[in-house]
Amino acid sequence: MIRRALLLLAAPLLVGIGAPGGDTVQVDPLTLADDDFARHRDAAEWRGLSVEQVEFREDQVRWRIWRIVNTARPRGPLWLVLHDNESGAFDAALVAVRAYGGTMVAVDTGVDPEHDGQRFNYAVDRGWPVDPNRNFDPSIPLYAANMLAGWTPADGPVIALHTNTRGFDTRLSTCNRSDRPGNGVISIRYCDGRYMPYPSLAKAWPFDDDDTLVFIPQLAGRDIRSAFCWKLNEGDFNIVAETVTVSDRSISNYAALHALPYLTLETLDSGLAPAALAGQRDRLVAMVDRAFEMCVPQIRKGG
Ligand SMILES: [Zn+2]
Repeated sequence: MIRRALLLLAAPLLVGIGAPGGDTVQVDPLTLADDDFARHRDAAEWRGLSVEQVEFREDQVRWRIWRIVNTARPRGPLWLVLHDNESGAFDAALVAVRAYGGTMVAVDTGVDPEHDGQRFNYAVDRGWPVDPNRNFDPSIPLYAANMLAGWTPADGPVIALHTNTRGFDTRLSTCNRSDRPGNGVISIRYCDGRYMPYPSLAKAWPFDDDDTLVFIPQLAGRDIRSAFCWKLNEGDFNIVAETVTVSDRSISNYAALHALPYLTLETLDSGLAPAALAGQRDRLVAMVDRAFEMCVPQIRKGG
């Protein structure tokens, strides 16, 4: 009987988030050589934030992540920047973690110095480089455990921030196929069996751009209206409802399968010029502000 009770207690841990682990060191954001930090050399930007470098190895891949904690409001949302080449997303998350508290976690592909600031992590013993947003898999639990370390759903939502290329691959879409061909599948004008767009009607800023949108994931067979923050549909957002059947190993699929409060925020990657980055940051932060106001008003903007 005792053994059975122990097994029952252990079961939720097996399907849950798992235990983090790795080498953690406190770092000074003002002297880090990384480009994401080099853009932010004003000490005022880092006031009230602590920065740690976490390194770990799993499945023949070495990882480095930055963990940036709002020390006055450590219990709060989790801000994820999974792609190191998406600088506008990094800058937006930095604003958000200051304003709403919690923890920001950013992947640093500079763990392989030859490939810093790239989308994929090349620090692999063999095989292909790894997309940090296709690595949330129960068979390699350390990765997700480190990305989500310390966070619980009671702390607020997980918000993943991204930038994406213009338009979409018209050959893959089942709608708007006569649009000018672009790359990928992230656009409010793209659709297929998995992605169903709900475009903004007014197309007011920040949704005057078809690449600025929120993904809301939901398990197949469930009503999208019961998904976390579906209320945004009343806020005239660009929303893509993402139907999750078999996980594609992304954080959005992981979140749907684990019933985590979660949103993906996307905007157009308009380049690295300071004004362009500021524009990307401002669009992402505008979506954060409106989403929090509508869906988690108890988490107030401060700082
Ligand atoms: Zn991305």
